[in-house]
Amino acid sequence: MPTYEYRCEGCGKRVSIFQSYDAYGKEAVQCPHCGSEELQRTITRVRIAKSEESRLDSLSDPSSWSGIDEEDPRSMARMMRKMSQEMGEELPPEFDEVVDRLDAGENPEEIESSMPDLGGGDMGFGE
Ligand SMILES: [Zn+2]
Repeated sequence: MPTYEYRCEGCGKRVSIFQSYDAYGKEAVQCPHCGSEELQRTITRVRIAKSEESRLDSLSDPSSWSGIDEEDPRSMARMMRKMSQEMGEELPPEFDEVVDRLDAGENPEEIESSMPDLGGGDMGFGE
């Protein structure tokens, strides 16, 4: 459950309130210090966090990966395309090349050894 930051109009304190996405904006929030319901949101970062969360959710959803055969380069290519879409990130040109070659039925290990820049074959994911 996300934390929402508010500033209390009643006592002037900054308060953090746990609230579900569904409840936010519908259910009244109360200052834990003075009980006032005059709370003002102080940040808007939560929405960004939510979209990242839901993206990760869909990545960790096992059904997203059903039918992936690691021995089948074309299956791997599909999986990697899907992953890059889910990540919503700009990926290096090497990534496209690897996916295209997998899609053409090339052996992943041969592709990797022919592209030393891949750095351990992590395909640019991670930090
Ligand atoms: Zn208060």
